[in-house]
Amino acid sequence: MNLPAHSTSRPSPSRSGYSKIVVVGGGITGVTCALALQRRGLAVTIVDEGLAERRCSFGNAGSLSPGSVAPLAMPGVLSQVPGMLIDPYAPLHIRARYILQVAPWLWQFIRSASPKRVEEISHGLSALLSSSIELYTKLLTEIRANDLIRRRGQLQLYTSKKGFQKDAAVWALRRARGVTVEDVSLDDIRQLEPAISPRYNCGVYLPNEGMITDPARLVERLAEAFVRNGGQIVNAKVAAFDIDETSPRAVSTNHAPVAGDAFVIAAGAWSNQLSSSIGDKVPLQTQRGYHVTLNNPGIELNRPVVAADRKYFVTPMDMGIRVAGTVEFDRLDSPPNYDRARALVDCIPELLPSITIDKKSLWMGNRPCMPDSLPVIDRSTSFPNVYYAFGNGHLGLTGAPMTAEIIAALVMGETPAIDVSPFHVSRF
Ligand SMILES: Cc1cc2nc3c(=O)[nH]c(=O)nc-3n(C[C@H](O)[C@H](O)[C@H](O)COP(=O)(O)OP(=O)(O)OC[C@H]3O[C@@H](n4cnc5c(N)ncnc54)[C@H](O)[C@@H]3O)c2cc1C
Repeated sequence: MNLPAHSTSRPSPSRSGYSKIVVVGGGITGVTCALALQRRGLAVTIVDEGLAERRCSFGNAGSLSPGSVAPLAMPGVLSQVPGMLIDPYAPLHIRARYILQVAPWLWQFIRSASPKRVEEISHGLSALLSSSIELYTKLLTEIRANDLIRRRGQLQLYTSKKGFQKDAAVWALRRARGVTVEDVSLDDIRQLEPAISPRYNCGVYLPNEGMITDPARLVERLAEAFVRNGGQIVNAKVAAFDIDETSPRAVSTNHAPVAGDAFVIAAGAWSNQLSSSIGDKVPLQTQRGYHVTLNNPGIELNRPVVAADRKYFVTPMDMGIRVAGTVEFDRLDSPPNYDRARALVDCIPELLPSITIDKKSLWMGNRPCMPDSLPVIDRSTSFPNVYYAFGNGHLGLTGAPMTAEIIAALVMGETPAIDVSPFHVSRF
């Protein structure tokens, strides 16, 4: 697929043009954007509905995965679609009642799996993600919250060589992008994580991956720092842009309007509702994921472990061991199907036979997903003072700090640190 050239006729905002920025969305993307803009001397207001648990950033698996440079749609993905439809507990499932609505997105998803496109996408992901841990370390050092980040790598494990072999293209692509990927034997696994069942006997160790020990707390701590530095948070639901003769001057909400010179849409899976109202209808799809957090697991883990054949993460967090994953295509507003979370609980003893499953919490979150696994980080095609920062999908925690750096550079009229052409809003 050829990416359309970005229009050069769109006016460039001048550095001095904006002083008051409104960020819509207070998840990890919104707060990191707000902090990056604030650091450049701008007055920033975050407008967010204020329902922390509704955010995808609240309950994710906490993994910082700079090495996740392979898109979800790899060559051959078409053959997996029937399984997604038939098996309700498949790691990737499409609700039958939703199939017609999701069909256009699925078509783009399948198209993005061509070998040439996968290669291009992996370069985009690599640029976006590779400095994630360094950027978080800097950010968290500034706000004295280093306790939230851990850097002990990640294990991705399989129960058979055959299963491992099935993902060979993914591991080859990661290595081709310079990611350190070390094959591990049963002995290596036992040394790194004694709690793991010998059923999981092969896989890889990714030494340069990291994790956040409490993703909800991360957003809270960043938001607290933002407010301490003079930022404002307004708890309200944005309904629309208030547009004067030339461009948006405020957002209308269920409370008072919030005025600004420029606007950043970082509303996660809900972002398309606002972008399409000003002419940028994007193929943004929610992929619902679930977690189960076991508060008294009775075992120790040192790092995130992925049961790669079943595609779920197990992460040792401050509040217990979190098991997170699964992909469910459904409407943004349909109620959670906690049977999918319970199915995760059923799987855990296969990986961690001594785990105690008693006190647990269940959660569902909406991943904001584009068909090509790349986010939208760009300016609106209609209004130069509206910016987009959404669609980081399965990697939104990892991708947030670089997304924020790009947005800050675009708003300031500077050249971003990386090539932003892979993230253009009009690429579909
Ligand atoms: C089970 C699961 C596991 C995951 N694991 C990982 C992982 O290990 N590593 C990783 O990198 N990523 C992971 N992710 C993905 C990551 O969590 C998301 O990509 C990321 O949190 C998205 O952040 P966001 O700020 O863009 O969106 P959100 O966190 O969803 O925030 C959007 C905010 O915008 C607000 N909002 C929406 N519409 C409006 C409106 N009209 N007015 C006002 N406010 C509005 C919402 O209320 C919300 O607070 C996982 C996701 C899931 C579901």
